[in-house]
Amino acid sequence: MIFQHLDKPDDDQPGLRAVLSEVYKRLISIDPDYAWTSGQWMMERKGGSNVRDTETVARRLTSEETQRDQKLGRDLDADEMPMGPWQIDGFKWCSSATDSNMAMMLAQTDKGLSAFFAPMRRRTGSHAVGKYELNGVRIQRLKNKMGTKGLPTAELELKGTRRWMIGKEGNGIKEISAILNLTRIYTTNGALGFWGRALSISRAYTKTRNVRDGLLQDNPQHLRWMANQTVDYWAALHLAFFGVALLGTTEQGRHVHDAREQMLFPPDDASLKILLRLLTPVMKAQVSVKSVEGVRACMECLGGFGYCENNEDGGIMNVARLFRDTAVTPIWEGTVSIMAEDTVRVLTDKRLGHSVVESVFGTWVKAVLKNCQDEGKFEKECSLVRSRLETFIGIVKQMDVPQLRWQGRAVLEHVEAIACACLLMYDACVDDDEVATEIARRWVWSKVLPGSLRQEQSEWRS
Ligand SMILES: Cc1cc2nc3c(=O)[nH]c(=O)nc-3n(C[C@H](O)[C@H](O)[C@H](O)COP(=O)(O)OP(=O)(O)OC[C@H]3O[C@@H](n4cnc5c(N)ncnc54)[C@H](O)[C@@H]3O)c2cc1C
Repeated sequence: MIFQHLDKPDDDQPGLRAVLSEVYKRLISIDPDYAWTSGQWMMERKGGSNVRDTETVARRLTSEETQRDQKLGRDLDADEMPMGPWQIDGFKWCSSATDSNMAMMLAQTDKGLSAFFAPMRRRTGSHAVGKYELNGVRIQRLKNKMGTKGLPTAELELKGTRRWMIGKEGNGIKEISAILNLTRIYTTNGALGFWGRALSISRAYTKTRNVRDGLLQDNPQHLRWMANQTVDYWAALHLAFFGVALLGTTEQGRHVHDAREQMLFPPDDASLKILLRLLTPVMKAQVSVKSVEGVRACMECLGGFGYCENNEDGGIMNVARLFRDTAVTPIWEGTVSIMAEDTVRVLTDKRLGHSVVESVFGTWVKAVLKNCQDEGKFEKECSLVRSRLETFIGIVKQMDVPQLRWQGRAVLEHVEAIACACLLMYDACVDDDEVATEIARRWVWSKVLPGSLRQEQSEWRS
């Protein structure tokens, strides 16, 4: 979000560009003494999904007010950078990373919701150099959460917080979406990390736990269950990493890939961005929900031991904690229904082209399938994926927006099933790996065949 404004002029906020340039350097730094972390405070009492009801207000300080702060030496932040010319008052109901150095947020101005940045701390005054206070932020109370205990989440009262406006006044939702798309990819990968850890723990457990006829790892029923879990995990892993690769390619260009890798990406930059835009809410929703289910299954794999708080060895075997931490991932950064709604928004947005589902998603799918068939693999599987794609294209074309929203979760499943099939088969073609090939086949045969859509359609009343 900040990167997009580095080259823009200060306009009516003198000093903004220099501040943003420093903030950007700190946010991407890996030097712990210099790097900053950031919170993003959107949610208010009236709701997190619907930020349009934001009650926090921002007003431009008068020149007398800025001069007064300047005289008192209260116009600098804790890193001696100038403070912005806006003041914010309001209440943020559920704000994480309250121990960070800065925060991005939304607040109402006369022209509507706008985006702002502020450092967390400011100088108390020129008479007290080196003394700092919170920048108009009062922590009302910490949330008592089910998990993610290492991350402080709080109710914050904002009074006189000095801020810089980012982007155009009234353009806050568009501005903040740059952050949301990133945090959704991070959430996806965080959820996946929890799931991967839980799977490793349960695999290790099967090597030592004795059941009736021997070790748990040799029990066919248990093995089959775990194998199916692993197929789901691999599919999620490929989808999430493809999201990261798409993001990296949009930021750094396709020259970072070799010729073979480039075949996995849409050939033009516009399609690349739209595919990323489409897959981001899908992976956020599907991977986070499946991670919760997956970690729960791993907990069950460990029997009663899995349900206990195993904090010996620093808690690395504590699947119960992993479960609590994973459980938030389908909620924060947008719930599953909000992700489904967003996916429908992309699929039906005429500004992105005549038919995103055909011209971007369909074209990408067909290109990857062709690549697999050129390798002489997965002939039957490719035709199954093609037929699921045709079904999906038909649905998107036939239904109007309210009906597609009503089908939101089915839409997510269609995109996930098709995209993961392509990625798993492509991966198996790269080196003919036996396990990758088997996993790709199992995914296609278990997930790509269309489900009970016809029955659901008959229930729709507009
Ligand atoms: C641990 C934790 C940390 C958080 N940290 C932050 C933070 O740092 N910054 C921040 O801004 N927020 C934060 N949040 C808030 C989080 O982003 C919201 O909880 C989330 O976006 C959901 O909003 P809500 O809680 O208001 O639920 P609601 O929006 O009220 O949702 C309730 C239900 O209604 C459904 N729903 C809502 N709208 C629609 C719709 N249009 N169509 C269909 N169904 C709908 C939802 O899917 C959900 O099932 C945090 C939340 C948690 C739990």
